[in-house]
Amino acid sequence: MTHANDLAGQPLNVAPALAKKLDKLGLRRRFDLVLHLPLRYEDETHLYPITAAPYGQPVLVEGRVIAHEVQFRPRKQLLVRIEDASGVLLLRFIHFYPSQLKQFADGALVRAMGEIRRGFHGDEMVHPKTREVVDGTPLAESLTPVYPTVNGVTQPMLRKLIRSELQSLPLPETLPPSVIAHLQLQSFADAVRLLHSPPPEYSASQLSEPALPAWQRLKFDELMAQQLSMRLAYRARRQGKAPVVRGSGRLREALFASLPFRLTAAQHKVLGEIDADLAQAHPMHRLLQGDVGSGKTVVAALAALTAIEAGFQVALMAPTEILAEQHYRKLSGWLAPLGLTVSWLSGSLRKKQKEQALEQMASGTAHLVVGTHALFQDGVDFARLGLAIVDEQHRFGVGQRLALKQKGEEPHQLMMSATPIPRTLAMSFYADLDVSVIDELPPGRTPIVTKLINSSRREEVVDFVHKTCSEGQQVYWVCPLIEESETLQLQTAVETHRQLAAQLGQWHVGLLHGRMKADEKAAVMAAFGSNQLQILVATTVIEVGVDVPNASLMVIEHAERMGLAQLHQLRGRVGRGSARSVCMLLFENPLSDIAKARLKVIYENVDGFEIARQDLLIRGPGEFLGARQSGVPMLRFANLEDDIELLEAARELAPEILARWPEAAEAHLERWLSGREQFLKA
Ligand code: ADP
Ligand code: MG
Repeated sequence: MTHANDLAGQPLNVAPALAKKLDKLGLRRRFDLVLHLPLRYEDETHLYPITAAPYGQPVLVEGRVIAHEVQFRPRKQLLVRIEDASGVLLLRFIHFYPSQLKQFADGALVRAMGEIRRGFHGDEMVHPKTREVVDGTPLAESLTPVYPTVNGVTQPMLRKLIRSELQSLPLPETLPPSVIAHLQLQSFADAVRLLHSPPPEYSASQLSEPALPAWQRLKFDELMAQQLSMRLAYRARRQGKAPVVRGSGRLREALFASLPFRLTAAQHKVLGEIDADLAQAHPMHRLLQGDVGSGKTVVAALAALTAIEAGFQVALMAPTEILAEQHYRKLSGWLAPLGLTVSWLSGSLRKKQKEQALEQMASGTAHLVVGTHALFQDGVDFARLGLAIVDEQHRFGVGQRLALKQKGEEPHQLMMSATPIPRTLAMSFYADLDVSVIDELPPGRTPIVTKLINSSRREEVVDFVHKTCSEGQQVYWVCPLIEESETLQLQTAVETHRQLAAQLGQWHVGLLHGRMKADEKAAVMAAFGSNQLQILVATTVIEVGVDVPNASLMVIEHAERMGLAQLHQLRGRVGRGSARSVCMLLFENPLSDIAKARLKVIYENVDGFEIARQDLLIRGPGEFLGARQSGVPMLRFANLEDDIELLEAARELAPEILARWPEAAEAHLERWLSGREQFLKA
């Protein structure tokens, strides 16, 4: 097996210039060519008479050149007419080389592959693939694969390279025979041979059928590689060392006694899962998922208390200053009465305050430190950090997860996210984390009513704002996202604030945007939190985490510009108290299809998981996870909507393969993931 792998892992034997181009296709080692599978197939097994060929699908025709000319108007182009026994066809080339002209000398016999369409001057093919042939040249016996490619790498070049590797490389199995038998998988060698050079009896539609055993085999292998590498990452972590954290329950009891509510069953359940992790001698990496408003913060506080009881420090990191500040206030409010020291660290602190916070962390006098990513920068030391909590984890991404690792012992990590990840995605991309889900909202919440409103009805919306304030409730008014220009967005927010303040004179209207200084933002949030401001005009900076239960109306301008996750997050800012809450989504026509689809989803659904599932359908996993997750290799063959059964099978079998057939697992990973070491490390 090692020998076979050596060959497979050899770099491509091609000229450097070509190697560079192939590299763009991810083709570096010889075996990569074997895994470079066709996008589709062309049928060159059959010649159509020109006038009998169907429209709208690629066809192969053959004829003699009867005329050719280079035309200069309306633009430079080459026009060639060919004729067979049935009639005449025009071939039109907009890009062409002088050398191509030679091919089309009058009387030359030419085969052209392309789609025929009805042009102004009769039937024509635009940019067909052509070649000159001699009379009676045999047709292809089977379908011709068409590969993904880049500029400068032609299909014939790829075909030749791939054919040669298929002939010379051994194609051994990497999966244990019992797994192959159990899942009734086609052999790897048969699968790749079939897809690269299909036998004559296969039609193009059969070959692009996802259920074709050959595709099933490759998809399974790909998913298995992903699962194996995730399991390995999981294992590597289990081998790391972390402090065993067991609390006495003393501080927790005190907090429970002071809370105005009781935990939901779901909160209790996840807390139990976290406690069990903390008591282990290896680092916890647990993702705590819960829809907006499900009450993750109090769970974080209770987990922190256990670590503090056990004599450790806790760090809580949030992605924005506003959110960090809010956590700081909330957690100080809960913990300070228990005699604990809560410190605050953010990038915008003055030097002296910062030094003080750093000193409290380093000396161990700070029990809990709340802050932004400033918490995990160089020069920040903890005396005995036992637990790191990351709120809104999806905002940080894989990179930050790694940055938390330290020399020697690692702290336990609790990551919280309100962007619910659909189950398939979680299985696929977070298989190296343990996941807890808070799957119920605290009782007593009245469902949010969502309204879609054309922005021409803005006056009615302003009236409703007034009515809401008159009932003692508060209002968020979110200004449109203007991606092209932050300055423009700022102007819009300032202008909206001015207008609303003028129209709603009896209420206090605040303004919050990303360009304000941290202490200004904090002051505005505090004023809104204490109902000194009834209306808060804001840019999307308030998207994550802000918690003001007395706010019951959310107005979002130009909702059609926002993504689903963002809309769900924004809407989740209301519906936190007992008052009936309303979210008004203002939109402007005309709506793009994708905007319509999004607004429909947000209108019809309240469950974040369902919204995320729909979002995944609309956007696909790549965009869903965003560029931040770039450490994760995208699937090439499998897809998370259709191949869920294969994914489940791979997930189930991966641990067994690692345990019983470690060499097979290694060979499989080598085949599928070599050159993606970064992923394995994550
Ligand atoms: P999220 O999960 O979105 O971070 P929060 O932690 O901000 O949600 O909680 C939302 C609101 O619900 C807060 O005001 C919080 O104090 C309150 N809350 C949390 N747990 C409960 C509970 N079990 N019963 C009632 N209210 C709760
Ligand atoms: Mg939160």
